[in-house]
Amino acid sequence: MNKLIHLGAGPSFIPDEVKKAAIKAMNNFNDSDLSVLEITHRSKEFERVNAESEELLRELLGVPDSFFVIFVQGGATLQNASIPLNFSNEKEKLGYIITGEWSKKTYTDGSKLRKTSILFDGREDKYTTAPVNESIEEDNDSSLVFLTSNETINGVQIKEYNKIGENLIIDMSSDVASRKINWSNITCVYAGAQKNLGTSGVTVIVGDKSKLVDNGLTSYLNFQNHIEMSSLYNTPPVFSIVVLNEMLKWIKKNGGVDHFQEQSKKKALLLYNVLDSNKEKLVLPVEKDARSYSNVVFDFHEKETLVRFLKEAGEAKFYGINGHRSIGGVRISIYNSIDLDKVKKVADFISSFLNSVS
Ligand code: PMP
Repeated sequence: MNKLIHLGAGPSFIPDEVKKAAIKAMNNFNDSDLSVLEITHRSKEFERVNAESEELLRELLGVPDSFFVIFVQGGATLQNASIPLNFSNEKEKLGYIITGEWSKKTYTDGSKLRKTSILFDGREDKYTTAPVNESIEEDNDSSLVFLTSNETINGVQIKEYNKIGENLIIDMSSDVASRKINWSNITCVYAGAQKNLGTSGVTVIVGDKSKLVDNGLTSYLNFQNHIEMSSLYNTPPVFSIVVLNEMLKWIKKNGGVDHFQEQSKKKALLLYNVLDSNKEKLVLPVEKDARSYSNVVFDFHEKETLVRFLKEAGEAKFYGINGHRSIGGVRISIYNSIDLDKVKKVADFISSFLNSVS
């Protein structure tokens, strides 16, 4: 019997090694005779894991010293509000690049807090393109530019975001640690952990300290409190941070972000090549340059073929490949934990399925 291959969009597959370490921590965290579920976040053992996670993240993502790293709760969704509150004042106008469902949500929340303008509107072409420098609104007087580097639902990835504006605020929830980051014109990056960084419950925020604005925010919302207390301002999601720590060690051990960047492209191109060579049988909505290396989306012309594909894929133990409920079709998520061998298996499956379609 095949073992199930988890290709879901998140929470995603966690490497066996990381799961084993999490189970060990569940039973006996760092030989403390206590479970990770019951240890205090003020214990030396946990403080060490927390501090090491920050160090590892800094090392792996090449974070400049002038930037802070904090671990908070609320998912990426809460940060759509907390980031404008911490990095802008009430008079500023914020710019938004909308390339899919997640950046649209970021924009909707931002609009409730500040004046906003849309600098690129992917809704016009049903979220199939990513902006390049020339496609951004000319009269951009926004103090910050918000974007989602990878749209998990629509399969749209912005490959060269550094070229499309200044003071970038980037939701990297679904491609963090799968590509190197050039921090030169970035103000803040944030990501929910449940794809490349472990399990849900913790959100990573990396930001330029010098760009923080003091708006007298309430305690939890104020990033300064989390920075001063090294993410231990209140009770943190201890278990999720322990899993984050194990994931970061796993990423480092396997060659770091350089390795995963290379793998990520290789895996995605393997799938897109199979799809492109059968393109008359498929709907491949996203323009080539904007295709995601994390989430490969496609559909069939006939609903019955899609239903048959999903049924046969399920029988072959490929898990979590239904497209998001808002758009349907197929979505194959190939985050860092999905190795090339697994992607080859799914590519072979797709290829033989397509051979059976007339
Ligand atoms: N942004 C992106 C790109 C996502 O993929 C997701 C979740 N899948 C979110 C934001 C929302 O994240 P959370 O559930 O952590 O709030």
